[in-house]
Amino acid sequence: MSAVSSHHKAKGLAPGRPRPAKALCSECGLCDTYYIHYVKEACAFLNEQIAALEAEAHGQSRDLSSEDDLYFGVHQDMMAARKKAPIEGAQWTGIVSAIACEMLNQGKVEGVVCVQNSPEDRFQPEPIIARTPEEVLAARVNKPTLSPNLSILEEVEQSGFKRLLVIGVGCQIQALRAVQDKIGLEKLYVLGTPCVDNVTREGLQKFLETTSKSPETVVSYEFMQDFRVHFKHEDGSIEKVPFFGLNTKELKDVFAPSCMSCFDYVNSLADLVVGYMGAPFSYQWLVVRNDTGQEMLDLVQDQLETQPVSSQGDRKNAVQKSIPAYDKGVTLPMWAARLMGVVIEKIGPKGLEYARFSIDSHFTRNYLYVKRNYPEKLDDHVPEFAKRIVEQYELPKE
Ligand code: FAD
Ligand code: SF4
Repeated sequence: MSAVSSHHKAKGLAPGRPRPAKALCSECGLCDTYYIHYVKEACAFLNEQIAALEAEAHGQSRDLSSEDDLYFGVHQDMMAARKKAPIEGAQWTGIVSAIACEMLNQGKVEGVVCVQNSPEDRFQPEPIIARTPEEVLAARVNKPTLSPNLSILEEVEQSGFKRLLVIGVGCQIQALRAVQDKIGLEKLYVLGTPCVDNVTREGLQKFLETTSKSPETVVSYEFMQDFRVHFKHEDGSIEKVPFFGLNTKELKDVFAPSCMSCFDYVNSLADLVVGYMGAPFSYQWLVVRNDTGQEMLDLVQDQLETQPVSSQGDRKNAVQKSIPAYDKGVTLPMWAARLMGVVIEKIGPKGLEYARFSIDSHFTRNYLYVKRNYPEKLDDHVPEFAKRIVEQYELPKE
């Protein structure tokens, strides 16, 4: 029996049934399909194998002696870019959607795995295989909730498609890379976004209700480089709430346990990553990991305005100070939070240094979370690059 057919005997789990990674499951969707057959090796929360998969996907794993590799993963190019004509309603300027549309238009792929939303709820994710640019565009903007993107894997195999683009976040892409040889594809393109602090749909509701003045009209939000959460509302207005004023005590349990124990913020295994945190405000941040990533970027180069990445400031003090503050769930009064936000924005880290600030803050927090809640997993689950990043800081004594 070949490896390709053996997984057909497995059966995906019904909704609501416990997943193999239990509380740490990020609902990536693999276990909804017969690819659950490979879960022990493939699941990002059962088998950390980023370095090995980097070597397979990019021909090398990250060089831990290079600071850029240590933080941002294997790459051959990095830049700041924005669409000259932004796509209305996209999360940022719509570079992800533009690339996906061109991949279809130019016949590079037959389908694109992306996430639309349910007709009743703009934040309820509905993974699909888009076959037209219109279907890709209908998936624009983040659904800031755990999304079972890989639940369409059986459909991919049944479609008979040989060339596919998958858009996804780190945990989805790690599981995908682990099974990509079993799907029957000739060419897989992977377009990733960074991802952090994701939530279940119920968790999202709690976050919106705790943080926004008008939770029901929020269409999208982002934790911005100016140290504020920007909520975009239906009428186009932007509400800004300083990070330092967030109700950390309430919100501590809002983020999914999977995201509190994730160290793949920068989507190490995608061919091309499109985020924002390493770029100046209003630009997106692009990390080209390999030639396949460059091939995708080339398709939209003429639609983009680009500039080199830059870095300014020193994050280390701010990160060190934020560790005990977050740990104790300190919430500043709003006036103090606003003041602190303004000061930090003026003198704080910018560009790649802001990205490193965000990575350091999340990795130290997550390291403590795993150490306290899953001490038996700590050594195997935390990748070497993340251990080195965390080692730069003094963590609270237990
Ligand atoms: P669009 O053209 O609007 O396309 C967005 C694409 O994202 C769509 O194709 C859709 O299929 C896909 N998508 C939407 N929701 C999900 C989901 N839940 N899971 C998987 N795919 C999804 N960037 C940073 O630099 N730092 C961060 O901390 C950060 N956190 C993020 C957290 C989440 C949960 C997500 C989904 C993204 C995050 N990003 C982060 C990426 C960033 O917010 C933008 O998504 C990215 O810059 C692309 O913008 P765009 O305008 O090109 O995307
Ligand atoms: Fe399965 Fe994905 Fe959950 Fe892991 S994270 S248990 S692979 S659905």
